[in-house]
Amino acid sequence: MYDIVIIGGGPAGLTAGLYAARARLRTLLVERMGFGGQLLTYEKVDNYPGFPEGIGAFGLGELISAHALKFGLQTRNAEVVTLGLTEGVKSVHLTDGSLHTRTIIIASGASPNKLGVTGESELTGRGVSYCAVCDAPFYRNQEVAVVGGGDTAIEEAVYLTKFAGKVYVIHRRDQLRAARVIQDRAFGNEKIHFVLNSVVTEIRGDVQGVDRILLKDTRTAAVSDLSVSGVFIFVGIQPNSHFVPVEIERDAQGFIHTDQEMATSVPGVFAAGDVRSKQLRQIVTAVGDGATAAFNAGRYVEERFH
Ligand code: NAP
Repeated sequence: MYDIVIIGGGPAGLTAGLYAARARLRTLLVERMGFGGQLLTYEKVDNYPGFPEGIGAFGLGELISAHALKFGLQTRNAEVVTLGLTEGVKSVHLTDGSLHTRTIIIASGASPNKLGVTGESELTGRGVSYCAVCDAPFYRNQEVAVVGGGDTAIEEAVYLTKFAGKVYVIHRRDQLRAARVIQDRAFGNEKIHFVLNSVVTEIRGDVQGVDRILLKDTRTAAVSDLSVSGVFIFVGIQPNSHFVPVEIERDAQGFIHTDQEMATSVPGVFAAGDVRSKQLRQIVTAVGDGATAAFNAGRYVEERFH
């Protein structure tokens, strides 16, 4: 029987694990892939306090997980299928067994949205990508497209210019959504070309990979095409909350509602990080959520079980 089972090994889950293990609560963190969460898909982090020169995203993930493990956090590599939310002891059902616990912290993060256009799924891994850090080196001196106008799209477009010869940023409006400081880096980069008021309607290619995308102007409906060998799609995120039972309230997109103590609508179940319905999705807010969730899960255990 655990005091806390944490679902997800990104910055929120690892920080919850660090706080819980340090507080000597019997804690297990379950992660289906590697530790670090979305940090594994970024190159560099330049807004995490304490690193004025920035820090490599992968390295930051390793430091946070080493810190949590140092306090004795137990971990298990497994996928969560569903949760059993009876009063008192709760269950976390995995593909290979079940765990029993007094509290649960859901820190399962978010995944990139798909565009949903013809050619996207067929060409994923053969020119269509959702991770610039993973795939950018394949496009040395080539022309690629980035779809989206948020922080991720613009940061990744800048990163891609280290490899690609030309990066088209395709955005459906005439204003980017990304923070001003991120936009300015892209506007100052001569390899980046903006294609505004445009949506991708189809991605074309063959077994060799992508060779072009079809575009539609959102104001005039004029259709055009663009020759590119890679398409990087960054059109927002969706929560990894498919295993979360309906008793836990969520917003229209599936992000989990919590109060300021990270408590969900089910007593003893907490949520932290990007899976939570919140305003600012950053590493620094994820780690804050994780600490708050672990503190309040510990308090719940103390009040109900001791
Ligand atoms: P986002 O902020 O939701 O931006 C998604 C972008 O994709 C928007 O520009 C949106 O256009 C566009 N889009 C959405 N659906 C589309 C569709 N079907 N077709 C074409 N375009 C579409 O998502 P994100 O950039 O992945 O960021 C996710 C969260 O992480 C945000 O809270 C962000 O601030 C945060 N983040 C922060 C940093 C940082 O601080 N360094 C870095 C990365 C991410 P519209 O603008 O027209 O809606």
